[in-house]
Amino acid sequence: MTTLFISDLHLESARPDIAAQFLEFLHEEAVSADALYILGDLFESWVGDDDPDEHYASIKQALRELAKGGTPVFFMHGNRDFMIGTRFADETSVTLLPDPYLLKIEGMRVLLSHGDAMCTDDIEYQQIRQMTRNPAWQAMMLQKPLVERLAIARQARAASMQRGATMSLEISDVNQSAVEALMNQHAVSLLLHGHTHRPAVHEFSIDGQAATRIVLGDWYEQGSVVRWDRHGPRLEVLKRKKIGVRPQ
Ligand code: MN
Repeated sequence: MTTLFISDLHLESARPDIAAQFLEFLHEEAVSADALYILGDLFESWVGDDDPDEHYASIKQALRELAKGGTPVFFMHGNRDFMIGTRFADETSVTLLPDPYLLKIEGMRVLLSHGDAMCTDDIEYQQIRQMTRNPAWQAMMLQKPLVERLAIARQARAASMQRGATMSLEISDVNQSAVEALMNQHAVSLLLHGHTHRPAVHEFSIDGQAATRIVLGDWYEQGSVVRWDRHGPRLEVLKRKKIGVRPQ
């Protein structure tokens, strides 16, 4: 009995190697799991559930087959795919989760999050986040034609890459006080998130109590998964087969 957690695949048509590994993961592993939790940034960008992109359609189909086959699939928004909505959920039979989400598993309490909300040292990003997570802003966006939304998303990605290139590792990481405040608020000793692309298991203490923060890695060069069975959670690397074309 195993529950799987992944995040930060950043799927896009320009990276068929990531999709190939993801589909293999679904067919070979998730199909026999108790549940699959996707903690955000499954897609590199998402401008609305009405996008007919064929690459995304193939991923949606695979998620639907997995869910229909009996593996419940849960999805939490990341900072790239926060526009995923109820139509996507209907089409894929995936259940959308709020961020954060408290999960009870194997008698333990674990708080799930994408992670970007805890990056409080990046003040400019938090302002952007507040704006783009506002339902009124999203409704206004969805009024725009698809081509316009795709152009806006391209610009946003370019701006984000430029910001990231000049930002210190410290500022773009989660803030430890924000981590502890969130864990206190939800009375958990275990937090599982992605976003920072810095896979690790951090052990620390909050008010003298042992606490753990597990960070999932991205799927750019290899996969990253947390497998949770009766022995507890394990963070593992999924090696990628060196076949197919590696784009620039
Ligand atoms: Mn992210």
